[in-house]
Amino acid sequence: MPVLYDAPAAAKTLRNYEALQRFYPPLTLEKPRRSPMRELISTVLSHRTTHADEELAYDRMLAAFGDWAGVLAAPTAELAHAIRTTRWPDTQAPRIQEILRRVKAERGEFALDFLAQWPTAEGMRWLHDMPGIGLKTASLVLLFNFHKPVLPVDTHVHRIAQRVGMIGPKTSADKAHQLLLAQLPPDPLVLLNFHKHNYWHGQKVCFFSQPDCARCPLKGFCNYYLEHHGPATPAALAATPARWEVAWGELAH
Ligand code: SF4
Repeated sequence: MPVLYDAPAAAKTLRNYEALQRFYPPLTLEKPRRSPMRELISTVLSHRTTHADEELAYDRMLAAFGDWAGVLAAPTAELAHAIRTTRWPDTQAPRIQEILRRVKAERGEFALDFLAQWPTAEGMRWLHDMPGIGLKTASLVLLFNFHKPVLPVDTHVHRIAQRVGMIGPKTSADKAHQLLLAQLPPDPLVLLNFHKHNYWHGQKVCFFSQPDCARCPLKGFCNYYLEHHGPATPAALAATPARWEVAWGELAH
């Protein structure tokens, strides 16, 4: 039977948000990192693929076929070859072409800007209905590009939420989208920071294997820490760095 902190999940989610907000640089909503179409297709390419390989696949795809119309018209096998650095190019290539075909057929152009005017739930449904677009991808596009109040739960957010006890240890990522969203204020700025800070934390501190708990500001209320190290001592808490140091590594965008 695992040892658990007796604190409500929602309280832990807010403590996580506040602690990581102090630990990592806060983000603003000002400028989306990519165009909506690029965010959508890049997220499809990123499935179980490193950021560097995803970028390489994207650049090769556009270099080979020029633009979205070219990608749609390309022989599917050639598209799969262009995106061969992704995990499943033979699956992703027809998927990307089907997404492009539907966007063009339904909207008349390769653009998603109309989503800014749509209600959040409607936009989520429209994106989620596309082949290979799950809750995470739909949420990423709506939050990053249109500042809608949704929360993408990727593998890092999911793992940390389970370990800390913000959700149950067996709660699925899809279910976590709803649960964590309900525990946070419906403020896109809060949701963006919560997502991104936990993403960084999963990459840099709370690794899949052997998390670096000594460096972690969540140890005082984390179930995993309690179970593996016992209650966080005053000395362990005092030794925790106050914030992320640039010298420890770059934080990916
Ligand atoms: S204390 Fe350890 S397990 Fe818990 S969130 Fe931090 S790094 Fe992860």
